[in-house]
Amino acid sequence: METIADDAPLRVPAASSSGRRRNMQANRRRDTKPELALRSVLHRAGFRYRVDYRIDLPGGRVRPDIVFTRKRIAVFVDGCFWHCCPEHGSQPSVNQPYWSPKLARNVERDARNTKLLREADWTVLRIWEHESVSSALNRVTEALMTCAVGKRAMQKPRLATAVESCSTSSD
Ligand SMILES: [Zn+2]
Repeated sequence: METIADDAPLRVPAASSSGRRRNMQANRRRDTKPELALRSVLHRAGFRYRVDYRIDLPGGRVRPDIVFTRKRIAVFVDGCFWHCCPEHGSQPSVNQPYWSPKLARNVERDARNTKLLREADWTVLRIWEHESVSSALNRVTEALMTCAVGKRAMQKPRLATAVESCSTSSD
């Protein structure tokens, strides 16, 4: 298995100066590389999750990148360009009329999906591709651990047991 340095970003975002030169047509809307990097470290940490898992909600269907079904945690790994990261998501200067509405729709859809999931009592994590592997892993781990003291605590008063079941997820 490929080794990933803890402080490396999930994917190095293209510098804004090189943004003009990048061949945007060649970019898939959903670049799976940062997603794969996160999935790899999660798996090595012993977490089990669902990929490409569709969640049907009253307001529509959502397909997060990584899903922990039992803990109701949905993880999205967002590309800086496609999801307009505040640091690297500068608008492309070429073909502005084409890209702007496209990117605006992405941002809108992200907000809508997050809202739908939260309304249905899901924990939503949106991770930028520029975030470090260790930071991404920490955020997911934290969510998995705190789910015990959050909604699960209502059903499982014995906290220690609940926490343990969280950290040894077999989703
Ligand atoms: Zn970014």
